[in-house]
Amino acid sequence: MKAATAIDAIDVRTYVFPTPQPEADGTLQWSATTAVTVQATAGGVTGLGWSYTDAATAYLITGTLADVATGRDAFDLPGSWEAMVRACRNLGRPGLVSHAVAAVDIALWDLKARLLEVPLSKLFGRCRDTVPVYGSGGFTTLDDDDLTEQVEGWLAAGCNAVKIKVGESWGSQPQRDLRRTQHVRSLVGDRAAVMVDANGGYSVGQACRMATAYDDLGVVWIEEPVSSDHLDGLATVRAHCRADVAAGEYGDSVFYFRAMCAADAVDCVQLDVTRCAGYTEWLRCAAVAASHGLQVSAHCAPALHAPVAAAVPNLRHVEWFVDHVRLEPLLLQGVPSVIGGEMVLTDAVGHGMTLNPDAERWRSGGG
Ligand SMILES: [Mg+2]
Repeated sequence: MKAATAIDAIDVRTYVFPTPQPEADGTLQWSATTAVTVQATAGGVTGLGWSYTDAATAYLITGTLADVATGRDAFDLPGSWEAMVRACRNLGRPGLVSHAVAAVDIALWDLKARLLEVPLSKLFGRCRDTVPVYGSGGFTTLDDDDLTEQVEGWLAAGCNAVKIKVGESWGSQPQRDLRRTQHVRSLVGDRAAVMVDANGGYSVGQACRMATAYDDLGVVWIEEPVSSDHLDGLATVRAHCRADVAAGEYGDSVFYFRAMCAADAVDCVQLDVTRCAGYTEWLRCAAVAASHGLQVSAHCAPALHAPVAAAVPNLRHVEWFVDHVRLEPLLLQGVPSVIGGEMVLTDAVGHGMTLNPDAERWRSGGG
């Protein structure tokens, strides 16, 4: 017999938000951010999930995952998650598949909390009532004035840590990297910690030399000094500097993070709920990090991370990423506010967010 809470519809949409100007980090340029949303319905209640990804994710959800999830009981999330992952066996688990599973899994968690009429943070269980965020952006494409304005904005919001991009043009501009870092260091003084993210732009030797220079500037966090696939390289850099080395933003599974932690590659594990197959796997990956005595930091998608970041004891902070901070109020209603550098958890049911009707103007074809 079909459960009264059987999932009866999966609606998929794609939105494209242009950036105000072309943006770049150390190893990639972009001019827009794509969000693929999922609305899952059961018992007349709708839950919302999404991923920051490519429009191709929408086709994968519509063509494969929607059929897998439809008809399953909305309360049985482990079963839905496992069925979706198994259905994608031949497609490969990392990347787009995990982005797609994430969007559905997040929608189903929101749906379950709404069916139970509780905030999602209560369904997960809280170990904190607010979630610390750090300001993140500082693209290599910004001039000094724009960088200054951005950093001042984070300080005004109460952030006690800020992060900028370095590794410009695959590590070919090391002096500009250091000059920009020095600029931010001078700007924030003792008001905030300074973090840098090279997005894998340096070679191992160069990363070790740059890490020494960043140490001298008082930088506390060096993210992806080399490719996050190069675990030995990360471990080498880590042994070479005082700053914490962090990576993990592309990680998709417990196996990925088990290998990263076992290699002593990082001081803090970055987890992205939109890339690691949703809240279900995010919580498991945080437990993997905990088993190695490591903290986790949520990567991007700040509004989505609020409830799950409140649920794990070994959280360091959530990345308040400028592109997503800008677009989330355009895409959504109910985005959690940041007060005094802390994201405030909603008392509304689910994660508290619904699609903003005005977001139609950013709607794209393909789902
Ligand atoms: Mg990064």
